[in-house]
Amino acid sequence: MLFSILTIFPDFFSSPLQEGIVRRALGEGKIEVGIHNIRDYALDRHRMTDDRPFGGGEGMVMKPEPLAACVRAAVRPDCSRRVILLSPKGERFSQAQAERLAGYEQLLLICGRYEGVDERFRERYVDEELSIGDYILTGGELAALVVIDAVCRLLPGVLGCEDSAANDSFSRGLLKHAQYTRPRVFEEMAVPEVLLSGDHAAIDRHRLVESVRLTLARRPELLASVRFSPVEEKILRREGLYDRIEAVVKAERVQGDAG
Ligand code: SAM
Repeated sequence: MLFSILTIFPDFFSSPLQEGIVRRALGEGKIEVGIHNIRDYALDRHRMTDDRPFGGGEGMVMKPEPLAACVRAAVRPDCSRRVILLSPKGERFSQAQAERLAGYEQLLLICGRYEGVDERFRERYVDEELSIGDYILTGGELAALVVIDAVCRLLPGVLGCEDSAANDSFSRGLLKHAQYTRPRVFEEMAVPEVLLSGDHAAIDRHRLVESVRLTLARRPELLASVRFSPVEEKILRREGLYDRIEAVVKAERVQGDAG
């Protein structure tokens, strides 16, 4: 997978890409990252990439020509790709989006600055807009790093233990159960006995129940898309949780229909 970052602040990326799993993936050639300075494609001698908005108003707008030339230069021919504009107006980035994007060979990530980009560039060159949340950042660089990090760890061979992505929060719509490591007792708080039992079926049951309890408490809306196996349903009924899940799913449907 090639991540191509289009930015006016290329130095932003020197340190974050040099740590942890992303660094290892780069070292092993599982991912490539190309950083393209939009300023290199400016047309004037001052290398201007922004200008005042037509119609007046605050701030500056990123000019379309340098952005378009930068995209054209960054595209790797003959591979599947998405041109993504990081933008607070975009669709919310999620684990499902990360899984979808992991299927492409190249992701071009355009980092906006100032008041954003000229609309004509967006219309002609951008496949999709992604937001990392309902808040305004000073630029798209941090959002691009979020996308790279989340997509990178889903690529084959990037995580040491392949299972860890499959069992993460959100991968099947449930928040992940609580986790414990040594010591067995920390400040008088003991690890749940079942986790020390060696009974893997009991541990799986405990973790499922914990996951569902946590999701019901914190993100009940996620449960609407979870499919439980008949065995799981039986366990959850025994714990008195299945009725609560059904009530939440029903409420979500009613809300969806009303919206
Ligand atoms: N004036 C714009 C608005 O109200 O929608 C916000 C512009 S913001 C200061 C500058 C750039 O930061 C945006 O063009 C975008 O690339 C990036 N950005 C800001 N917030 C973001 C978010 N929540 N998700 C993704 N990118 C974001």
